Amino acid sequence: MTPVKLLILGGTTEASALARALVGDGRFAPVLSLAGATRAPVAPPIPWRLGGFGGVAGLAVYLAEHEVALMVDATHPFAARMSAHAVAAAAQAGVPLLVLRRPPWVAVPGDRWQVVAGMAEAAAALGALPRRVFLTIGQKDLAPFQAAPQHDYVIRSVDPPAPATLPPRTRLIAARGPFDAAAEHALLVAEGIEVLVTKNSGGSAVSAKLDAARRLGLPVIMVRRPPAPEAATVATVEAALAWLYGRASARA
Ligand code: NAP
Repeated sequence: MTPVKLLILGGTTEASALARALVGDGRFAPVLSLAGATRAPVAPPIPWRLGGFGGVAGLAVYLAEHEVALMVDATHPFAARMSAHAVAAAAQAGVPLLVLRRPPWVAVPGDRWQVVAGMAEAAAALGALPRRVFLTIGQKDLAPFQAAPQHDYVIRSVDPPAPATLPPRTRLIAARGPFDAAAEHALLVAEGIEVLVTKNSGGSAVSAKLDAARRLGLPVIMVRRPPAPEAATVATVEAALAWLYGRASARA
């Protein structure tokens, strides 16, 4: 049987786990696609490619030229542009698309969340009085916080942010998750953090900061996810594999 050509749009723990689960599975010929956003991505265990496709049209051409038979969008819940492109290109090329998306975090008793729609709202929600802020939103959405220069920011990201996007009073921490609750607790205390700002990424790799904030009684400004892509969606790697196995056996 010819292996099914599969394109995985990645950049997440789930995409990496899916790739690992497909190693040695002769039913599939998978390729993992990474945006190239991280300077030193962890080398994937399956064939991979790097960089944008050139919009919807470019992705549709890629799908056709590489005879991709199935596509899994396992990008980050905030990678809305890539996800929208995947829906449109899959429709154009007639390629079945599955979205693998971890569920969002949900507040539990003791949480003091303020949910906002975007980064500008998050910056405004910090208020007029200076505060010590822990910003864990990645390195590319920092510019809106320049509108709130009265605060001291501790910014944690995998790669260093572009200096031009930074608010004036910042301390940078370069780190890649997962993070554990004890270390997060210690960090919030050591830095004298008064409020945390995060995207609702979901998942367990970076959720310890929320546990630590809860235990310290700290408020959290939680940036809501962009609208989910309109496509079949599963929440776990296991469910994505079940979908892939079903599709592969239907083709056999
Ligand atoms: P985005 O705004 O939705 O996408 C911007 C452009 O980057 C896309 O139009 C596409 O370029 C290219 N791109 C994105 N993901 C790609 C992929 N997996 N393979 C090839 N090209 C890709 O995406 P983003 O928010 O910048 O995220 C970029 C990457 O980082 C994604 O892989 C995402 O999973 C990962 N990531 C994002 C976040 C986050 O908070 N946004 C957090 C962790 C990881 P073309 O239009 O040229 O095809």
